[in-house]
Amino acid sequence: MQKAMLVDTSKCTACRACQVACKQWNQLPAEQTEFKDTYENPANFSPVTWTKIVFGKEIPDPENGRVHWPFSKQGCMHCTDAACIKVCPANAIYRTELGTVYIDEDRCIGCNYCAANCTYNVIGFDRVANVARKCTFCFDRITNGEIPACVKTCPTGALQFGDRDEMVALAKKSLKNLQAAGNEKANIYGLTELDGLGVIYVLEDGPKTYGLPEDPKIRLSTHIWDIIFKPVRVLVVAAAVFALWINRGESKKKEGL
Ligand code: SF4
Ligand code: SF4
Ligand code: SF4
Repeated sequence: MQKAMLVDTSKCTACRACQVACKQWNQLPAEQTEFKDTYENPANFSPVTWTKIVFGKEIPDPENGRVHWPFSKQGCMHCTDAACIKVCPANAIYRTELGTVYIDEDRCIGCNYCAANCTYNVIGFDRVANVARKCTFCFDRITNGEIPACVKTCPTGALQFGDRDEMVALAKKSLKNLQAAGNEKANIYGLTELDGLGVIYVLEDGPKTYGLPEDPKIRLSTHIWDIIFKPVRVLVVAAAVFALWINRGESKKKEGL
């Protein structure tokens, strides 16, 4: 059963309780940041910041002269067509039975390819431990019948978690309400992007306003790497097994002498 998270930006107040809950549940320490002329903080994802509220470009309202500030909670999108899975040479990143994308730190060799190729630039690389880290959708919670910590904490209902079909239905309902209220630009993001994201967004304006790519694509170099590297990896493993088999045979011969 594929799980998904709904981020309804029309309900988000940018309180950032989700950011704090993520840090608390996953025992991620705070990091030193600096003021960059924006309320968005920290500026980037890192090995200890797996989710954050992205402050989009203000939308002016010509009717009342006020501005509407678009906020969106972002992090790993748990893409169906995931560049990180394609490039990992150690098979350390994989899709779980719940449809989420998971990094197995024990298998991670610290090559950093996933971070360099992630379509949404959300992977943090821990240089001390030499491993890549990102949102797990709180895998330890959702496999124990709990919802992710960020969703549990959100005070406005902007975040929801459940079966993907249910999240899509909720997104469509919210879109209908926004359109009925006169928002012609409202849209849903994540239904088809990269064959469907694990995070479905209800946006009040185009994706670009929220810093999201309109038509995300996996780089050509990633496809080439995937196509060329995978057969080579099979050959390397086969060669290693063959070498071990030969070695064992030689050792047995020597023992027999
Ligand atoms: S957002 Fe990046 S890390 Fe997450 S699944 Fe997609 S490519 Fe992988
Ligand atoms: S799902 Fe869990 S790991 Fe992912 S952003 Fe929410 S709290 Fe953090
Ligand atoms: S907790 Fe909910 S309302 Fe607050 S910033 Fe996160 S998504 Fe928005």
